[in-house]
Amino acid sequence: MKKTKNKNNNSTIKASIKYGLVLIICFLVAASIVISVVAIFNFLGQDYVKDNYFVFLIICIVAAIIVGWGLSIIVSRYFMRTEIYLSKILNQIAKGDYTTKIPEEYSDKYFKKVIQDFNKMVDTLNSTALLQSDFANNFSHEFKTPIVSIKGYAELLRDNDNLSESDKRRYLNIIIAESERLTNLASSTMLISRLDTLKEFDNIVPVKINQQIEECVILLDKMFENKNINVDVDVKPFTINTNADMLKEVWINLITNAIKYNKNNGNIIIKSYEEDKNYIVEFIDDGIGMNEETLAHIFDKYYQGDTSHYKKGSGLGLPIAKKIVELSGGTITVISKENEGSTFKISFPKKK
Ligand code: ADP
Repeated sequence: MKKTKNKNNNSTIKASIKYGLVLIICFLVAASIVISVVAIFNFLGQDYVKDNYFVFLIICIVAAIIVGWGLSIIVSRYFMRTEIYLSKILNQIAKGDYTTKIPEEYSDKYFKKVIQDFNKMVDTLNSTALLQSDFANNFSHEFKTPIVSIKGYAELLRDNDNLSESDKRRYLNIIIAESERLTNLASSTMLISRLDTLKEFDNIVPVKINQQIEECVILLDKMFENKNINVDVDVKPFTINTNADMLKEVWINLITNAIKYNKNNGNIIIKSYEEDKNYIVEFIDDGIGMNEETLAHIFDKYYQGDTSHYKKGSGLGLPIAKKIVELSGGTITVISKENEGSTFKISFPKKK
């Protein structure tokens, strides 16, 4: 960091010296042109020049300034082409166009580093803008679906007086379920947006992983029961420093998914162990597994691979889990095979 700063300072000093020298040379050239003209005049009409020596001196100085000024503008336009181009591009960026970069031919040796950094910045801005528009598209699509459904069933209830009691109940239950889905979508969207802006958590405390996971398993007891899923928990008393509430979200999401994407009477194993300098926690299920396509997108916001469970999720659980694990200094990886099951492996450095 310090080295780059020094390098940039050196480039600026060298560039300033270069422009100073160019300016001086311009004035010297202009002065010598004017002096030559005066010398010729002198040669042709000695008396006149001798008589008006002071006037000639003034003319000489003024002419040198005018010619030198003109020359320096022309020359500096060439030497300042990078800055002129930079200002043009900065204007384009200010208008929201992140596609233009400074071409290689403008990167003279003094500004090479500055231009490289500038082009890197444009790339980052461009990908952030793309991500944002992608996020906005997905966001509006995800919110539109339950709203359209709620509106449709509400209209059915309003416009059909002779609906049977059971149909009325069914439609009302759909409206309630879709409203719940909207609420979950809204809170998950708010959480991922908040996590996206964080560089690190506040309220970092030592968290006992085993204790938290055991609590989550008890919390989700009803879900295990409903599908008659057998769960085997063998988690060591590892402690990591992070935000406790956030980490709990990770376990809840991974356990919920292991149940949701499992068959009735399926199995889930949760275990932990040490590997080199890391603590590892694994969530292994023998559920429906994932194909290559799903596997490639599970951490994309709003992505839902298994559409039969669409109503029970938001497609934000895993992106949220990944972000929390990363903010805790860890990594999350997945191995999965269709119809055989999935293993989510979370790795935390022992020292953070
Ligand atoms: P949601 O569960 O709300 O759809 P997630 O972000 O938690 O969203 O998961 C994204 C997708 O990853 C799911 O739609 C599903 O296709 C796949 N997935 C996640 N966990 C599992 C799992 N344990 N087994 C099979 N597929 C899974």
